[in-house]
Amino acid sequence: KLYNEVQDLKGNIRVYCRIRPFLKGQSKKQTTIEYIGDNGELVVTNPSKIVKESHRVFKFNKVFSPAATQEEVFVDTQPLIRSVLDGYNVCIFAYGQTGSGKTYTMTGPNVSSQEDWGVNYRALNDLFHLSQIRRSSFEYEIGVQMVEIYNEQVRDLLSSDTIQKRYPSILTYYLDLLLIFIFLYTIIISSYLYLDFHTLGIWNSTQPNGLAVPDASMHPVTSTADVLELMNVGLMNRAVGATALNERSSRSHSVLTVHVRGTDLETKAVLRGNLHLVDLAGSERVDRSEATGERLREAQHINKSLSALGDVIFALAQKSQHVPYRNSKLTQVLQSSLGGQAKTLMFVQLNPDVESFSETISTLKFAERVS
Ligand code: ADP
Ligand code: MG
Repeated sequence: KLYNEVQDLKGNIRVYCRIRPFLKGQSKKQTTIEYIGDNGELVVTNPSKIVKESHRVFKFNKVFSPAATQEEVFVDTQPLIRSVLDGYNVCIFAYGQTGSGKTYTMTGPNVSSQEDWGVNYRALNDLFHLSQIRRSSFEYEIGVQMVEIYNEQVRDLLSSDTIQKRYPSILTYYLDLLLIFIFLYTIIISSYLYLDFHTLGIWNSTQPNGLAVPDASMHPVTSTADVLELMNVGLMNRAVGATALNERSSRSHSVLTVHVRGTDLETKAVLRGNLHLVDLAGSERVDRSEATGERLREAQHINKSLSALGDVIFALAQKSQHVPYRNSKLTQVLQSSLGGQAKTLMFVQLNPDVESFSETISTLKFAERVS
């Protein structure tokens, strides 16, 4: 096995903290966070100092200072990702308020520069690389899904339904729809007649262990280039929603799922593993007196799903008998990679500036509960 089991007391849950640097034009702000050494300790200082308890220490499996590079962060994530090839299910989250660096960690600021790549590109790149090395005895198939969870609804980011862009008039749209309908009808009828559904294997989302995200398209990939192309489609689809709904990306969870199926060419034994890479919605509290209508509804959904996630991880950390997966769409989608043999990693993202102090504390309290 490639993965060296590093079991800590908390079992399969680990929590890393990443502090983002001050951005340009922000340099004169006061920091509330002190990072000390390599022991995973973080000191948070209360700027007002009126409160008696002005320093608090939080403990993590690892703390990344603002100077940490994407590469350094990935090195500590890699063993977990590689274990997917051995048949483990893995879930990696980025949690934090909007602007704390969740997307930076997961996707990266600039896809065209490899140095800037976040965890998800590096993970897929690494999985392809390794699966090729191991080709001699094993054959791997890799497929990806990408969804967005917004107001407790799952939206497929890789389906080709960006209708407004593609269809200049409603007539061409209906014509296409009709053709697609006839096409699908033919396929369905003929597949009932001729196809043995079992041959669909991993791509069949109705299989008993429910690995795939239901109702989302699955895309087989054979190279990093394939992945880059697909993820561009996903990011574009997300952006389409964003312009219509005003910065929706910070108010929805995005989930990239990587399915790996390895077949031992001699024994024909099959190993399945999946990896969920999750850029969570911003965790900031929304002022109830200010938010109304749609904004309030969004906020309530985010609140509900993030606390459901917290409850699930807390239950797992406590080795509780009952794990409340059913309380949100997010935890339902991620169920296969939370608990059991699955490995979970949470990046707790922090914005160091003094204005973020109260959000920083509430982020750290969330982390403290699940770690
Ligand atoms: P979020 O997704 O949590 O809302 P972003 O990832 O968009 O936050 O980060 C907010 C801003 O901070 C972006 O301009 C991003 O490029 C920058 N940023 C975040 N983390 C880092 C980092 N580690 N190093 C440099 N810039 C960062
Ligand atoms: Mg973001």
